[in-house]
Amino acid sequence: MITINNTAYELDLAVIGGGAAGLAAAVAAGRELGDNAKTAVFDAQPRCGKKLLATGNGRCNLTNRSAKPSCYHSDDTQALTRAFSGVNVSDTLEFFETLGLICREEEEGRIYPSCGQASAVLDLLRLELARLRIAEVCGCRVEKIRRDTEGFVMSSPLGTIRASCVIIACGGRAAPNLGGVDWGYDLLTSLGHTSTRLNPSLCPVPVESPHLSSLKGIRAHAGAAICDGRGEIYSDRGEVQFGDKALSGIVMFQLSSAAANIRGEDLCVELDMLPERDGEEIVSLLTRRRTLLPHLTLENFLTGVFNKRVGMCILKQAGMTPLSRSVSELTDADIRRISSVIKRWRFSVSGRSPWNSAQVTSGGIRLAEFDGLTMQSRLCDGLFAAGEVLNVDGFCGGFNLQWAWSSGILAGRSAAAVLRSRKAHRQTENDIEQF
Ligand SMILES: Cc1cc2nc3c(=O)[nH]c(=O)nc-3n(C[C@H](O)[C@H](O)[C@H](O)COP(=O)(O)OP(=O)(O)OC[C@H]3O[C@@H](n4cnc5c(N)ncnc54)[C@H](O)[C@@H]3O)c2cc1C
Repeated sequence: MITINNTAYELDLAVIGGGAAGLAAAVAAGRELGDNAKTAVFDAQPRCGKKLLATGNGRCNLTNRSAKPSCYHSDDTQALTRAFSGVNVSDTLEFFETLGLICREEEEGRIYPSCGQASAVLDLLRLELARLRIAEVCGCRVEKIRRDTEGFVMSSPLGTIRASCVIIACGGRAAPNLGGVDWGYDLLTSLGHTSTRLNPSLCPVPVESPHLSSLKGIRAHAGAAICDGRGEIYSDRGEVQFGDKALSGIVMFQLSSAAANIRGEDLCVELDMLPERDGEEIVSLLTRRRTLLPHLTLENFLTGVFNKRVGMCILKQAGMTPLSRSVSELTDADIRRISSVIKRWRFSVSGRSPWNSAQVTSGGIRLAEFDGLTMQSRLCDGLFAAGEVLNVDGFCGGFNLQWAWSSGILAGRSAAAVLRSRKAHRQTENDIEQF
C-alpha cells in the first residue's frame, strides 16, 4: 500500500489525471503489477472522471467501430498507427468487458454502454482501481514535476510526491467548465517536451449573417462544407442547428475539427439546403412552383420546402426583397439566384468558438516525442503520457475516447513493464553482490 508520512507519497507509479486516459492507464498498470506495487491516481477535481460523465450527453459514446489512424489529426501518423496496433477497438471492448461493461452499437459505428449510462463506465473503472488497491487522490493538483536520480519529484498541495514512473494524463484545454486545464502541457514542457498550437475543436462554428438572429433555434437537414480561399476543406451532411451567432450540430462539430488548424480571414461555411437534389433539379422544382403557386406572395414561396423562416431568409439572401411581391413576378434569373443560394448558402466564419463550447483540444504535446507502442517519452526515461494532452484529436463519434483508452492502456502496461524490468535488474544486482 501507499506510504504517507504527511509530507511525502512514495510511489512506484503516479498517474496524474483521473480522466478516461488516466483511469484506463492505472487499471492496465495495476493488472500487470499486482497489489504489491504502490500506485496512485491524482486528480485536481473533487472526483475523478468529471468529463467522462458528460460524454455522449451522459450516455458515453465510448468508441467507434471504424476508429483507425485516418480518423485523427496528429503530428505523427506513424506513432498513431503503432498505438492502434497495440490497442485497437476490439481490444478496448474486451478491456471493458473484463470490467463488466456490455456495449451496443448504434448508427455510424458509435458504441455506447448498453445501460445508456456514462456513470457505469466510470463506476466500473473505479471499482477495478479499488480491487487493485490503487489509491485515488482527489482534490490534489500536481503543480510541478522534476526528474532526479531516483525518478520523479512532484509538488502538490498535499505534499511532495515521489515516483519511479509517471503517467501524465491531464487532458486538454477544452471544456474548462468540466475540468479542462493547461496544466498537463505545463508539466510536460517543464520536462523538455514541446507543444503545437492549441485550438478548440468539436464546437459550433461562429459565423456572421444578417439573418441568423431570426433563425435561432431552427434545425434543418443540410449538406455543409467548410471552405477557404483555395476551395473546400471538408464537407459532411446532417442536422444543422442555427444559433444566435453560430452554426451548430454534429455536422458543424466535424467541420470545426477539419478546420481547427486553419487560420485565415476567408474561411466560410456553405450550406446545401437540399443536398438530395442538384442545381438543375432545384431550378425545375422552383419553376414548377412558380406555375403552381402564382397567387402567393414571395413570403410563402418556399413554405413547404423549408421551415418558413429559413425559406424567407434564403429569399432575402438571394436579394428577392420585398417579399410582399407576387410569386408570378419571379423571373428565370431570380429562380436561378434562389436555387444557387439553396445549394450554396454562404456564411463567413467570424472567429473561434470559446473553449467552453469545445469538446476537444486540437493540438497538444507532440506525439512524435513519444514511442507510439509504449507511450513512453523519447526525452525522459520513465515518463509516459496519454489522452488529450497529446497532439491527437478525432472527429465526433467516439474517436476521442478511443484515443484516451488506447493510449492510456498502452501507457499503463508499458509503465508496469519498465517497473518490473527495473525490479528484476535490481534483484540481479543484489544477487551478484551477495554472491
Ligand atoms: C461535453 C463533452 C462530451 C464529450 N463526448 C464525447 C463522446 O461521447 N465520445 C468521445 O469519444 N469523446 C467525447 N468527448 C471528448 C472526451 O471526453 C475527451 O477527449 C476525453 O475525456 C479525454 O480524456 P483524458 O483522460 O485525456 O482527459 P480528461 O477526461 O479531461 O481528464 C483529465 C483529468 O486530469 C485532471 N488534471 C489535469 N491536470 C491535473 C494536474 N496537474 N493534477 C491533477 N489532476 C489534473 C483533470 O481534473 C481531469 O479530471 C466529450 C467531451 C466533452 C467536453
